[in-house]
Amino acid sequence: MSRGDLPMRERLPDRVSIVEVGPRDGLQAERVTVPTGAKVDFIERLLAAGHTVIEATSFVSAAAVPQLADAAELLARIPWKPEVRYPVLVPNERGLERALAAGVREIAVFVSASESYSRRNLQRSRADALVMCTPVVSRAKAAGLRVRGYLSMVFADPWDGPTPVGTVVATGRSLLELGCDELSLGDTIGIGTAAHVQRLITAYAAAGVPPSALAVHFHDTYGQGLANVLAALELGVTTIDTSAGGLGGSAFAPGAAGNLATEDLVWMLDGLGIETGVNVRKAAAAGAWMCQQLGREPAGRVTRALSPVL
Ligand code: MG
Repeated sequence: MSRGDLPMRERLPDRVSIVEVGPRDGLQAERVTVPTGAKVDFIERLLAAGHTVIEATSFVSAAAVPQLADAAELLARIPWKPEVRYPVLVPNERGLERALAAGVREIAVFVSASESYSRRNLQRSRADALVMCTPVVSRAKAAGLRVRGYLSMVFADPWDGPTPVGTVVATGRSLLELGCDELSLGDTIGIGTAAHVQRLITAYAAAGVPPSALAVHFHDTYGQGLANVLAALELGVTTIDTSAGGLGGSAFAPGAAGNLATEDLVWMLDGLGIETGVNVRKAAAAGAWMCQQLGREPAGRVTRALSPVL
């Protein structure tokens, strides 16, 4: 298909980077704790599907997230390759020290754009969460690490209602000013529509943050995930967070469905002739396999559609 065949294709990129967040963001929200060996197997399946950015685990406290208490052991067992990035979530300086000791080359820090989710999920105000991130990001950058900044609840919060765009932009800019290389905008409860997405990305651009500094992280609660991705791609964002099988949710946000499924995203991008390097059937099979370990049905539509042949 030539680019001129579809009016929308002219406005879309030729290549998209997928950040596969299933092993961390997905598994931390599942009730079942998966054995380390199965996590290694999952990551190997994701690599075989063509993924080159896999959020592997988290160094939050084992008491808060027991599902990922084996972070150091997992990182010692997964295959490290020069072309593959394994960002890990780090909540504080103690987590950073554990991550550095495990040899990580990329971390992700997180704050909430809304006040109530910050207090419930992070047990501190949004302002205090930014203060806590400051030494983590500066020490990570000094150690030569790449740093992603996650911003949660960018459209609304279950307790506070809509998150003001100005607050979202200011909080996200603070993360970038601390030194984050990339800002991932998380619609943690999946409430946003394409209009919300374009308003926010346009507001960031007006504040001097280009779409190349942004990633989008959608949850598919209301079935808006793919439409929201398309809205972001149209405005120049080319990094998308998804999870195989649509794993995940938020243990701290009632009603939040899982992440947009990787295989659903790749199916759409394949159809548009946009390269990802990820094989849709293998990505779907990896998600289906992990869902089997968890004893749950895959949330991704493509996995369900393909399941007779996977
Ligand atoms: Mg998520």
